[in-house]
Amino acid sequence: MNTVMFTHKSCIEHDPGPHHPECPDRLRAVMSALEAEEFQLLDRREAPQAEIDQIARVHDRDYVHAVLDAIPTDGRRALDGDTHVSPASGEAALRAAGACCAAVDAVVAGEARNAFCAVRPPGHHAEPAIAMGFCLFNNAAIGAAHARAVHGLKRAAVVDFDVHHGNGTQAMFWNDADLFYASTHQSPLYPGTGGLSEHGAYHNIVNAPLAPRSGSAEFRAAMTETILPALHVFKPDILFISAGFDAHRADPLAMLNFETADYGWATAELMAVADDCCGGRVVSTLEGGYDLNALAASAAAHVRALMGG
Ligand SMILES: [Zn+2]
Repeated sequence: MNTVMFTHKSCIEHDPGPHHPECPDRLRAVMSALEAEEFQLLDRREAPQAEIDQIARVHDRDYVHAVLDAIPTDGRRALDGDTHVSPASGEAALRAAGACCAAVDAVVAGEARNAFCAVRPPGHHAEPAIAMGFCLFNNAAIGAAHARAVHGLKRAAVVDFDVHHGNGTQAMFWNDADLFYASTHQSPLYPGTGGLSEHGAYHNIVNAPLAPRSGSAEFRAAMTETILPALHVFKPDILFISAGFDAHRADPLAMLNFETADYGWATAELMAVADDCCGGRVVSTLEGGYDLNALAASAAAHVRALMGG
């Protein structure tokens, strides 16, 4: 079976402004890398807009409306110090969330083995009622809630290898024994959460903070010794990947030293657990990654692995 990719042009049109690291060129770089011959068999689909009801499974309904009402008709508006929106941002955020729901539908229906959502804005910092860290709606958590509500899947896991801790996903999953969140991330670093002592109400949260300048060896050890065994014990019915590529050694926003090949390796390891637990059902969604060349190469390594390469 094939890998399906969901994206939409509005996700390129979302524009936080000049000199903002979360820029339209990020998604252009990813899409350009995925134009290569080896990705010919990717099943490319248009991301639909999520319904408000789908987003309101994990966000306060008032917050969803407040975000959409805050989208300017021209110019830009700041939702917080670093989360800025432009006229296309509302549709982009709806398409990013909708991509994850549609990806769940395709994977559960057996139309694809797994899925990659090439979307922005990213999602993992968005809390139930707070936009932050370039994120408006928590795309992975919305996908997980959709899988449970619509497809009757009981247990959903998110593994997040973005260099920043996914505080939003952790907050949304904290009190539910059937939700699992695991993260490797640089510590100390924004947003400051993700300590070893943060376990969730049911030991359903697994944080593996990495010291600045950690590289491949430390990342692979955290995955092999901590996250993959815990994920195996949890036995998800579907696995989401919060695929941020800003732990790459070339990334300007942080100080970890992952290599491009680490992303292919981690993806294959996560797929192996999914093969054991849930028929290989994996839905990945783009989070961070701010060096355009490293982002493009790392996303390509990730999708190559999803496709079985
Ligand atoms: Zn990040």
